[in-house]
Amino acid sequence: MLEWLARHPYATADEVAAGVRGLLGSVSTQAVEGPAPCLEPSTAAGFVIDEAEVVFWGLCSDCAKPS
Ligand SMILES: [Zn+2]
Repeated sequence: MLEWLARHPYATADEVAAGVRGLLGSVSTQAVEGPAPCLEPSTAAGFVIDEAEVVFWGLCSDCAKPS
């Protein structure tokens, strides 16, 4: 996955999900409900925030099972 990201440093979350789907068993993407930007930064540093994008990294339930 890190190699894929290194080759596609400007990929969007959807592109990352599609790109790594072939490398991993499954990738889950979900939308956050509510009006944009859905999240607020602790400090906007003067920016007017249009949208937020968050990636949660971890193991799916199958991979998290002890073998
Ligand atoms: Zn998995």
